[in-house]
Amino acid sequence: MIELFRSLSDFRYFRNKVTHQSIGLVPTMGNLHAGHLSLIEESLSENDLTIVTIFVNPKQFGPDEDYEEYPRTLEKDLQKIQMFQRTLPLPAKQLVVFSPAQVNDIYPKNYSTTITLGDVTTKLCGKSRPGHFDGVTTVVYQLFSITRPQAAYFGQKDYQQFAILSRMVEDLSLPVELEMMPIIRDENGLALSSRNQYLSDEDYSQALYLPQTLAELQNFIEGRNWEDVSKEVEKIIDQKIFDPSWDYLQVLDAISLEAPTSISTQVLIAAAYRIGKTRLIDNILVEVNNA
Ligand code: AMP
Repeated sequence: MIELFRSLSDFRYFRNKVTHQSIGLVPTMGNLHAGHLSLIEESLSENDLTIVTIFVNPKQFGPDEDYEEYPRTLEKDLQKIQMFQRTLPLPAKQLVVFSPAQVNDIYPKNYSTTITLGDVTTKLCGKSRPGHFDGVTTVVYQLFSITRPQAAYFGQKDYQQFAILSRMVEDLSLPVELEMMPIIRDENGLALSSRNQYLSDEDYSQALYLPQTLAELQNFIEGRNWEDVSKEVEKIIDQKIFDPSWDYLQVLDAISLEAPTSISTQVLIAAAYRIGKTRLIDNILVEVNNA
């Protein structure tokens, strides 16, 4: 059985006794799928103790977003982790789950601190989800304080989130290494997401247009110099974003998250696409030729 802590006081008691050499943190909102499991696998392979947190963070949802409906499936999540851990060719390592039953355990009464970063939080997803990244940085900071890991694992699927959290760690000199793991996709190329289950069959077929568009742009850009392709890329994007389903579709320098230049070595093709009330995000990192 996986050790589960449902209150901060129980978790703290456990954490204060921990003498492991290395601790890896995998923060999630639950409803686990193979994407989350890949983060857990990496943490298990690199650390003596892995802490998986499952917490649907109210601060990162806007007033019209799906906080209430977000799938909460703790029992199933625990079973998935347990089954998955059994399949791993790793020596048994300790894994615990911290899933506070009370929001107050993460945000105590009269909580009034928000971690806010600069410009990087207002573009891409930050534009249509104002305040979202403040919620993410605030909860992740809090989870770092509570769990005190040496390493924390995140998915490339939320590339902007990773860039923002890296900035926070650097700016605040937090003693934690962040690791970004590749996007896990289904057999048709759709990035796994807890929100995929909101899609009907028809929606699902439409959703495939998202990874297909990113792949189309990737084929066009990969290995070429940005200056040689930028005009064409702009044209392709302009033709597509007439469709209001696109929240954004952009190509950016992978490091600065600004427009690529002739000296860019890697670009990020990033998109958010709406199908009814469901908003899906995806991205691809592409090497460009800057010679
Ligand atoms: P969430 O539960 O959606 O907050 O996600 C928790 C972590 O899992 C985040 O670091 C996500 O980037 C990561 N993640 C979500 N979906 C995927 C995926 N398809 N592949 C890899 N990582 C993912």
